[in-house]
Formats: sequence, structure tokens, C-alpha cells
Amino acid sequence: MEINKNLNKLASLLLAKSIKDLYPDALLGESKINEDGFAYSFKFNEKNIGANDFNKIKKQMQKNIDRAYAIKYESMSKDELLKVIANDKYKCELINDSKEDSISVCKFGSDFIDLCENLKIEKLSSIKAIDLVNVSGYYWKGSSENEQLLMIHGMAFESSNALEEFKKQLAEHAERDHRKIGKDLEIFTFDDIIGQGLPIWLPNGEAIKYEIESYVLKTLRFNNYHIVSTPVLGSKRLYETSGHWDHYRENMFSPVEIDNETLVLRPMTCPHHLTVYKSSPKSYRDLPYRIGELAVLHRYEASGGLIGLERVRQLQLIDTHTICSPDQVKAEIKNCYKIIKEMYATFGIAIHAIDLSLHDPKNKEKFFDNPKMWKDAEKQLRSALKTLKVDYREVVGEAAFYGPKIDFQVKTNLGKIITVSTIQLDFLLPERFKLQYKDSDGQIKQPIMIHLGTIGTLERWISVLLEQTKGILPLWLSPNQVDIILVDNNKHKKYGEKIALALRKHGIRVYVDNSDERLSKKIFYAQTHKIPYQIVIGDNEVENKTISYREYGKQESNNIKLPAFIKILKNRIKAKN
Ligand code: ZN
Repeated sequence: MEINKNLNKLASLLLAKSIKDLYPDALLGESKINEDGFAYSFKFNEKNIGANDFNKIKKQMQKNIDRAYAIKYESMSKDELLKVIANDKYKCELINDSKEDSISVCKFGSDFIDLCENLKIEKLSSIKAIDLVNVSGYYWKGSSENEQLLMIHGMAFESSNALEEFKKQLAEHAERDHRKIGKDLEIFTFDDIIGQGLPIWLPNGEAIKYEIESYVLKTLRFNNYHIVSTPVLGSKRLYETSGHWDHYRENMFSPVEIDNETLVLRPMTCPHHLTVYKSSPKSYRDLPYRIGELAVLHRYEASGGLIGLERVRQLQLIDTHTICSPDQVKAEIKNCYKIIKEMYATFGIAIHAIDLSLHDPKNKEKFFDNPKMWKDAEKQLRSALKTLKVDYREVVGEAAFYGPKIDFQVKTNLGKIITVSTIQLDFLLPERFKLQYKDSDGQIKQPIMIHLGTIGTLERWISVLLEQTKGILPLWLSPNQVDIILVDNNKHKKYGEKIALALRKHGIRVYVDNSDERLSKKIFYAQTHKIPYQIVIGDNEVENKTISYREYGKQESNNIKLPAFIKILKNRIKAKN
């Protein structure tokens, strides 16, 4: 369910008018609309407004709705408008920022006026249901160097049913939030003493990550990728050569000086992999030369932009690069595409959209300046997508500085569209690093490079996985696959440990619950931690040398011999379901 943006825009103006009615000294900031509703920032003079004041504000909003004001949309000259709004200094700033001479405004009541395009809504009474959600601090224009204002957030709907429906959806969002799931299931944490945006993988998270890494690396080896390991640091010279120093520095950590060397934490592995390629002379027989690595990378993200695992400063990426001859590009891109699709299918992750991200010829700063290179590379990707019959959109200005890319977009729990996987075509780095190969005709030629991020960073992938599954992971990815619950800690300990050892011998992750809690509490723990199999061990099981198990989400319990149980698990793990 999506909110009606025009209606919410109008509701934000209604809020501004109502605040002015109640607190005539309050200064108006700006109105914002997003997927969750509307928001408006204010500077209050006498006191700070909190959620306690919401009822009073909502009453005033309703009063204004009941007054059935007609809404007028018109345009005014900048000067005229500045005179009318002279007391609102923030508003004046916004008006002065505008490059237009005439400004669209919206008027209602005897004196209310605000910046607004024509919303095509004629009556305030079109707003049938309204709620104020919370209030937060807001730096004017989003910059921490500016004054702090208060932002009131709310939502508006055409009917009270729609409001209730939306509230339900928000609750569902909260349940799917990977930050909440990560905390509840003890998957990851952050600690300021370690540093902002640096994820700490707890044992459960490490188990999930290990399974994903193993699967991706195995798939790459199967596709004839050479797996390497290269340093997390690179010299400043390396990034000057690659062009990252000129085009990507704002995303990199500051360099460190050591023994006359200037080193930087690497934001990606491309330049490192080029040195792998160059470590020995290559001929056409070596191409395509595919390199892969499970790499730890560091990228600077503003502290305000850090979101759980979705946006972090240290990330792990199974980064790959293929170096090939021009006539191999198309087949390689098709192969990359096939690998990505297979991985999404294995994890059951939904692709929201596929974008062909092109450069912006006007932006000479962001993109390497070589029109012919861009034209060729963009043509190649477009043609590969057409042959693959992919439904895609073209987006200008989203390419990497060195070349165009195919981006796989996923929708997050909060409805944001994020790029997860990419295939990038690059003519630039091979030139900068003077890559060569000896062709079949004996000539020395320059190869082309393809960057492939199959599932993107492990952090982002796991955040998406947790949100799309609500944390109910398939057996092969579950951190604890079996929870052994002892009816009596002393009496059943020996048999329980024997079972655990036998399962571990088969690579199955087992948790033995030997806490002093009551049996019902132990079963509750296994359920809330979404552990796929619970085994309960009591006198019967010890005596008959069996186990009783129950699958997550099912009611019935089964009593079988251990080898039969191991067989069920191993088959499911192998099938990755
Ligand atoms: Zn790369």
C-alpha cells in the first residue's frame, strides 16, 4: 500500500498552518514527503514540542479541516512573496535559493501561504484521516553545521480504513526490519567502542556468512574463477594509477604514512586483481582470465547514512574480475548474468529491477572523459541485455567512473530500492595498468575487464535475506540447525551429548540447551530463535535409543533412529532448502 503523496503534501501544509495557529512565534522550516507520510520542520520559540502535544495539534488540524477552506494555487514573484513571508527566515532562505523568478504557492484560510506546486486537491476536507507519528531533531537543510529544528512526522489518508491498513503495514515492516531480526536472533551487533558502521558478526551471523561465502566461492570455482587473496591495503600510488584517487576519494578512508609509504584501506579489489593478472605474461590461451576473492573492504559513509548492515564502513565482498579479449565480452557478460540469476534463485531473493547504468556526458568530474570508450562499452552492455531478452531500464549518471554497468536492484523492507549485484564493463583500468596479452597472430594487444559483484556485499545480502525471510532461514543457512532439549539436565545429558557429537560429525550445527529453564521455556526459545529442528530427549528416547524431533512451524513430533534423522537433514542441506 502506497501513500498518496499529494494528499500528504497538503497535510504537511495543514500541519504548518495549525502550528502557526497554536504557536504564532514558531518559524516554518520545510515540508518533506516520503514513503511513510509527511514531515515538517519548525523552530519553536518558547518551548520544545513533544509527542505530548500531538493531541492538541491534531485537534487544531481537525478544526482547520472542518472550516472547509478553499485552497488556492497561484504563482507569485519572488519579491512579493519575500515581503509576505518576511518573518519566516527559513522560508525566506528557501525562496532565495530558488533559481526561478516566480514561485508556486498554495493559500488557504485568511493568511496561510506556503511554497507548493498545484496539488490538484481543492478542499482540505479531502483529508479524512490523519495521524502524527513522532518528532525528531532536524538540522536545517540536513547539514550538522546548521541550526537544529524539530521535525514532526505524520501521515494522512483518504479514509480511516486506509490509515488502519497502513498502520498494520508499518507493524509488519517493524517485524521485518533486519536490525530487529539481527538483534533478536543474535546475528550481529555494533559497538561504538569498536567504531561506527563496523559490524561485529556474532557466532550465529558468522555461521550464516560462512555458508554464503562457501556457496559463492564454490560456484565461482565451478565457473573456472581463480580464487586469490590480496592485502586490505593499497598504496596511494596504486589508486592514483587506477583513477580512484581522483574520482572516488570521498568514499575512501584517509591514508596512513608508514616507512615512506602512503597506504589506504582499499575500497575495492580491482587494482589488486590487475596486479594478479600481471604477475605472469598472458597469451590468448589464458583468456578469459577470471579472478575472485573474498575481500574485506572499507568505504567511507557519512555517519548519518549508516543503516544496520545495509550501509556499513567495513564490508565483505566476493569480488571478481574477468580479463578477456574484445570478442569474448558478450559471452562473458552472459555468463555473469547467468551466475547472478542462479544465485538469486538459490537464495530465493526477488529482483525488483535491472538497470543499465550509463554515464552522464555532462559530468566530466564524476566520469572518465573518453566519449568513444563510453559509446562502445554502453553499446556492448545494451546488446548483451537484448540478446538475453532482459526487461531493463536505462539510467543516466549511475555508471562507475570507469565504465557502464548492469545493476540488479532489490527492494528493502522500508521500500527503498538498493543496488545489490553489478556487472561492469571497463576499458579504462586495463589501459591505465597497461595490461597485455599475446594474441594468436603474435601481436601484443590490450584486454578488456569485467567487474562482477555476484551477490554484492555479504552485509547487504544478509540484510536483504533477513528481511525477505523474516529471519526464518532455510536449513542450510540456519546458524543452529538442531536444538537438543534435555527433559532432565542430569539424567539425559550423556545421551544428548552423544547425539550432538554424532550430528556435528556430519557438519550439522547443533545447540544443546542445558539451561535450568523449564521444558516449555526451552521449547519457546527454540521457536523464537527459529531453529529448524527441535529434538527432545527424555527417558523414552534414552531407553529406545531414538530421538523425538519437531520441525519449525509444524505441530507433529516424530520418533526415529538417529541415522534416519541425519539422512533427512543431509538431503535437505544438499538441496539447499
Ligand atoms: Zn572491480
